[in-house]
Order: sequence, then structure tokens, then C-alpha cells
Amino acid sequence: MGKRIVCGREWCQDCRDSSHRRRIARVLPRLMQVCPMSYIVITFPLEVRLMMRDPQMLALIGKKVRRLLRKLGYRKVYTRWHFFGEHGEKYHPHLNVLCDGEWLVPEQLAELKDLIRRRLLPRSIAKTIGKDLEIQYSYVRTPKRIMHRVKYVTKASFTDIEWDEPLANALYGFHNGCFAGTWDDPSKWKLTGTDKKFNALLKVREGIHPVSGKPIKWNKEPIPWALVEAQNPVDIGGGYYLLPPIREPPDLAARPTNLTELPEDDYRKHPNTVRRLIDRARERVSFISDYESYS
Ligand SMILES: [Zn+2]
Repeated sequence: MGKRIVCGREWCQDCRDSSHRRRIARVLPRLMQVCPMSYIVITFPLEVRLMMRDPQMLALIGKKVRRLLRKLGYRKVYTRWHFFGEHGEKYHPHLNVLCDGEWLVPEQLAELKDLIRRRLLPRSIAKTIGKDLEIQYSYVRTPKRIMHRVKYVTKASFTDIEWDEPLANALYGFHNGCFAGTWDDPSKWKLTGTDKKFNALLKVREGIHPVSGKPIKWNKEPIPWALVEAQNPVDIGGGYYLLPPIREPPDLAARPTNLTELPEDDYRKHPNTVRRLIDRARERVSFISDYESYS
């Protein structure tokens, strides 16, 4: 296997997609323990955004929200900042929160919003500027919709360094996605449809080869991408690639390890039950042969 080294900067076009997929694979083992899932977005009024250019302030606000929700009884909380809106240009920080939770009656929701506002923005400031935090609350319960939220929250929002270079520099090394709570429950939902492609990345994150199921041992020495590319790697997303085996002689690697290549007399020697197994295996080979020459 090969793993491409990414810089992880939000505005880097070269590794944005890989970084996003890796981020998804990183949060999934935990967020798969949450269903139904609440999604809260907290947006700050324009007037206070200047003080929020300090990454320490952003970190503190995230921490306050996680602590408050934990105190209110939420068991699992994930927070992540988006720094810009859909089209960027103007600094527009909003904190995304994913947590366990359900539909709230209007009074409960109003109380939750009130508590968050009081915790994050001193009432004197809210009064002076005549504005308050904007808080959106929603919840989802199907794997497809939960996954949609997970993808959205983990996406890069600072996609152009030109929008705000000083801020980009200040955010260097900023630890954005943060978890709070206990995360030792079994998964409550599974990946469906095209999202199943993340299963391979989840395996890699566990240190297991997605095809052979064997533990992966990474070579610590990086090698130039051009050398990897020359081997026709199979992209499994997130900057991970399945590579052909290195030590096998070329003629062996080129020959498909297909059961139809077994000598005919070998096959005839088998008793009927074994033949049936071989026939069944042959059907499966057509399905997995794409991966067979990679290990
Ligand atoms: Zn990059």
C-alpha cells in the first residue's frame, strides 16, 4: 500500500480532497456511535468577529460549548469551526457541533439557545451591539443524512489563502475538530450506498489492509510520488493507494492468480464437494480479480 503525504492546509487544492476524506475516516469511528444526531451551528455577529481572529479564542469558545453540552447531559460532542461561508471573501466563523440528541420541544430548544448565548457572549456586549449569536438546531436519524452532516462539518471552508493570509498564518497548526465525552459505545449506524467506499479507509486507519485483511507495516522512508505513480496504483481515496507487490518477479505479478489456470487434471482429482467449492470460488474470482494482483 502507499500513503500520500498531504500538507493538510485547508486552502491547498492538491490535498484538499484527500485531507477531507482522511478527516471523515478519522471522525467516523466515533460519530458512528451517535444516532440520532443533533447538528448545531453557532454564528457570531459581525461586530465581534475581530476578536475571533485569535485561534486561542476560537479554541476557548469550542471548549466552552463542549463543556456546556456535557454539563447539560449530552454524552458525545464534536465541534469544528468553519472559517468562511460558501463563497468566502469575508471572515465568517461559525462553530459546527455534532452531538447525541433528539428533537427538542420549542421551550427546550429556546432554553438551550439561551444557555449557549449566555455562555459565549457576555450579555453586556449583546446589549451594546443589539445583536446576539445566531443558533441553528436540527437533528437527523438516517445513516445517509448523518453522513451528509459529517461530510459537511469536516469539509474545508478556508479554501483560498488570498481571502485572508494573516489569518491563514495565525491558524497554522490550529487543532480544529475536537471531541468531548465518552466514546466507547458500539456503532449505531452503518455506511450505506456510495458512502461504503469509506469502509476501506476505516480499515486502513485501524492499520489493516483493506483487501488482504493483514496488518499494515508502513515503511518510514518516503519515496517520490513519481515512482509510486509508475506502478499504476489503485486509488482507494484519502491519498491511499493499493500497490502491486514489490518482490514478485514480473511474470508472476502479470499472471492473474486465477483458479481457471489450475491444471485440468488437478481439478478432476477433486471430489465433488471440493469441485463445487472451486466452482463457487471461480464465480467470486471474477469479482475480486481486480484486487488480486495487489497485496
Ligand atoms: Zn497540500
